[in-house]
Amino acid sequence: MDDILALLKLCQPVAIFKTSCFRPNLFYDVIFKETLEDPYADLTQFAYSALGDHWEMSPPGERGCGIIYCRTRDGCEDLSHRLTKLGLHTQPYHAGIKPGIRQETQNGWMDGRIPVIAATVSFGMGIDKPTVRFVAHWCVSQTVAGYYQESGRAGRDGKPAKCRIYYSRKDRDTILFLLKKDENSIKTKSGRMKVGATIKSFNTMIKYCEESVCRHYLLAREFGDDMPDCRKHCDVCCTPKIVAQKISKFKSIFLGSKIKYKENNNFSDLYGGGREGVQQETHEYQREDNSNQEKEAAAALSKLISDEFSKRRGSKEKSEKYVKTRSTKVIQPSLKKIPEVSVVMREKYFDKLVEEIKLHIKSCNSNQHCPNLSDSDIKQCASDFEWNSFNSKGNIHMYRREIVNLTKSLREASVKLKFTL
Ligand SMILES: [Zn+2]
Repeated sequence: MDDILALLKLCQPVAIFKTSCFRPNLFYDVIFKETLEDPYADLTQFAYSALGDHWEMSPPGERGCGIIYCRTRDGCEDLSHRLTKLGLHTQPYHAGIKPGIRQETQNGWMDGRIPVIAATVSFGMGIDKPTVRFVAHWCVSQTVAGYYQESGRAGRDGKPAKCRIYYSRKDRDTILFLLKKDENSIKTKSGRMKVGATIKSFNTMIKYCEESVCRHYLLAREFGDDMPDCRKHCDVCCTPKIVAQKISKFKSIFLGSKIKYKENNNFSDLYGGGREGVQQETHEYQREDNSNQEKEAAAALSKLISDEFSKRRGSKEKSEKYVKTRSTKVIQPSLKKIPEVSVVMREKYFDKLVEEIKLHIKSCNSNQHCPNLSDSDIKQCASDFEWNSFNSKGNIHMYRREIVNLTKSLREASVKLKFTL
């Protein structure tokens, strides 16, 4: 509003006509992935209930449809595959798909042939389809404004529609990890401020998901709106007791854990912290005590997470096939900063780092503190490390030593972690 006044150079007094951002036809709720036996079956069920009975009987153009937002490209592919297998035709949509196929998917969804799209946040811009009956977030949005915009693609015809977040602590930690990493790597003040604002907004999203506060209220507050008359338009106002029970069940999973969960603000980036970070973390793990009760809780948690991983294994194997081309493995392959260090050598060390990070993640698989990193996240971390070593060291020996030390520390941390679990 201030921007409009300033940019149009409007002189006071100005009459302001403002519409509330509250949309009573949208029902908002949050589900905790970690408490579900089968999150994919739950999502399919949710999609069918939002689409309504006999939705396929309507003419294609009027048929209800849905969007599921995923964080990564692999996530879109995996989810589409699983939901289609469960009987709900879902197509992936992301920047990695060939433009022709992507356009065909969008057309199919627009004219009602494809009921559900599993997409990254790039999908939906400029799209105004009235019959979107649900918008699900398979991973929580990074900002409140982003979530309001993405979920707001539901129910533009004014008829009831559902907006749901499938929330998990693993997703939360992964996003915080990546945001912190961004914050540390950005050099400009304005860039850092921008990431800082995103982190702040993300903390509001965490609150939105982990606390029992009217969902419409938290969205309205973000835009400076008055408290909306929600009544029965979100799960908190509709069934407050059930929501409170779900939250405490969700939080109890983490309370019993042997590995102390760190609060958001103290989130230490395991890989971003490099060698020192790893050593510090290992030290903290070792400080935890070992009572039987905690061991039991850790074992239960470990099973829960290993089940989750086994569910995802299929998709991981699939994504391994998409091997990056040679030139994209390392940052600035053409730079000859250290003449003796060839691109081939840099790539060899990059591969080694990927391997070590994967091994380390495998060894801390059984605690929830380990970020849920996708294949591309791991590769990004490895290429950042490699680049930092290459860019900051003056000769081949220092470069090599830096990387060897790092892989050694990762390995030591893995061994200690295995020992303490
Ligand atoms: Zn409410």
